[in-house]
Amino acid sequence: MAAAWQDVVRDAAAVREAAAVAVDAALLAGVLMRTGEQPNASDVVNYAPFTLLPSAVPRALFEQAYAVQQDFNLLVDAVSQNKEFLEQTLASTIKVDDFTARLFRIYKQVLEEGLAQTVFLGINRSDYMFDCGLEGTAALRQIEINTIAASFGGLTSRTTDVHRLVLNVLGKSEEASQLLPNNPAKGLALGIAKAWELYGSQRAVVMFLVEDVQRNIFDQRCVENELWNRNIRVVRKRFRDVFEQGSLDASRRLYMDGQEVAVVYYREGYVPQVYDEQNWEARLLLERSRAVKCPDIATQLAGTKKVQQELSRQGTLEKLLPGHPEAIARIRATFAGLYSLDEGEEGDRIAATAIADPDRFVLKPQREGGGNNLYGEELREVLEKIKDSPERTSYILMDKIKPQPALNYLLRAHSPLQVSECISELGIFGVYVRQGRELVLNQAAGHLLRTKAIEHADGGVAAGVAVLDTPYLV
Ligand code: ADP
Ligand code: MG
Repeated sequence: MAAAWQDVVRDAAAVREAAAVAVDAALLAGVLMRTGEQPNASDVVNYAPFTLLPSAVPRALFEQAYAVQQDFNLLVDAVSQNKEFLEQTLASTIKVDDFTARLFRIYKQVLEEGLAQTVFLGINRSDYMFDCGLEGTAALRQIEINTIAASFGGLTSRTTDVHRLVLNVLGKSEEASQLLPNNPAKGLALGIAKAWELYGSQRAVVMFLVEDVQRNIFDQRCVENELWNRNIRVVRKRFRDVFEQGSLDASRRLYMDGQEVAVVYYREGYVPQVYDEQNWEARLLLERSRAVKCPDIATQLAGTKKVQQELSRQGTLEKLLPGHPEAIARIRATFAGLYSLDEGEEGDRIAATAIADPDRFVLKPQREGGGNNLYGEELREVLEKIKDSPERTSYILMDKIKPQPALNYLLRAHSPLQVSECISELGIFGVYVRQGRELVLNQAAGHLLRTKAIEHADGGVAAGVAVLDTPYLV
């Protein structure tokens, strides 16, 4: 990938001037985050970290990522409805991973009672890196698909304007005019609004299930405000509020202190640490209810790394999406090598290969949110330790993707302005709504580009590693 801004990236004076303009533009545009010191008040806020310059993205790969998003929506939805597949795929994992096991128990319990929910809303984000092959041509490789609490669709709806201004300041108005419009906030709200409408109660509200620590509230507000503008009421509640105020009526309609809830949009609930016994009880109440959960627990399970690994196995996609050979081909073309560490010969072999050559792989536990994966020497040490124990099964192995770095500046509050060698990860948001068995909406809803310095192997924006970016197609 040719660096698009070679002429300006080393021009210290131009960079300094552009950075000052960029930071103020981000504040004006609402690319905001609360501070670590005051994560639950908006008295003091700062700009969310972002790149000074848009990053070059190969046009063909960008288009490929958009073109496969409806296929991924279809696939996630199919997996979520396939009890046999989820059961078989997660059987080994839930023996050793308590968190996945607990989610699975709720999944089974809700199925045994019989689903009250009839409208289903999926909001996901499929993330990719551009793998630099030996011949120098880049290939689109999926990192993972996030089926719960996929974030930054709100803030990134506002970063394109900032980068357009920066390019203008740097005398690159021709390039500035080529930045693509992008508004995931609108797309996500459209899906939520459709689900709310199909639920069919004017009085019912949309409930954002939010964290105790709400640093990233502005990202969520972007989506909330789109809903208010459509005259849909939004409430923000935590698991603890659900435990204290939530109830179901005889037909399992969900009420919060007497107010009916049509849609529960989870921005929380994907890490084990948030669940004490009361919060598990709250989660069960929500899952048993008729309210549209985004995602329902089956769809959360469909986003586990173990499922991702099994999807890459020969013949699996054919079983899950019969009659969709073209979608299957598009999906498969984005897969990197993924390997099961289940007990047995196949797992033994790949574990030995990874121990011998750890830099070829990433070792991933069944966790979300960044900072959990293992690389290099650490991968080798951990795998050495667990290779003969059942604990091995709670991980998967994946080929390490190696993108071509480019120079950029990562703008962060209270940090010095310095050039970094960076790599980027492209996410495409997908939204779909199903009523009974009929898919009534299936769309790509915009994109997110996140960029980080190459010295960080892992981690996203919320984890403080990556920053928001805008693709510049080349
Ligand atoms: P999480 O659920 O924690 O976000 P990811 O699978 O997205 O897990 O991994 C977190 C980060 O680790 C990614 O954003 C990416 O930067 C890096 N990463 C993950 N898988 C790979 C891979 N196969 N090759 C290179 N980097 C990877
Ligand atoms: Mg991720």
